[in-house]
Amino acid sequence: MGAKAIVEKEPRFLADSMLGKLARWLALLGYDAVFAGSAGQPDTALLERARREDRIFLTRDTRIPPVSGLRMLVLRSEDLEGQLLFVMRELGLKPDRKRLFTRCACCNLALETLPRRQALALVPPLVRELPTDFRRCPGCGRVYWSGTHTRRAAARLDRLGL
Ligand SMILES: [Zn+2]
Repeated sequence: MGAKAIVEKEPRFLADSMLGKLARWLALLGYDAVFAGSAGQPDTALLERARREDRIFLTRDTRIPPVSGLRMLVLRSEDLEGQLLFVMRELGLKPDRKRLFTRCACCNLALETLPRRQALALVPPLVRELPTDFRRCPGCGRVYWSGTHTRRAAARLDRLGL
């Protein structure tokens, strides 16, 4: 597969234990991105899972030999922004701003709409004043809203030209 192969369907990811931040950001951008966690699973198990679930394997490990049927991206950059840019360029992706914050950054689950009335009881007082929609993660219960963090994330994407 060429480095700039066109991705015909929405890519899904599995990030190894060194790429937790990247996995969170991919999920924030709305991509299905699983983080392997820091449990130190043997590489073979992770590779097999990525292959089975048709996920692109993201790693910083340059020593992993190619696995047939598995797409792997080896990230040379140590910083999040470099890694994010690399993945987007390599796969020809452009994040859809409308999908920003549609997945939980911790669980990678799609967020559910949370009625404002219910949300108000769950968020800090200052947030109650915000004219925003609320979403909740069905896994961890974390509540998401538009505020400083979403603006900061959008600003970061602007800066990266994404
Ligand atoms: Zn969650």
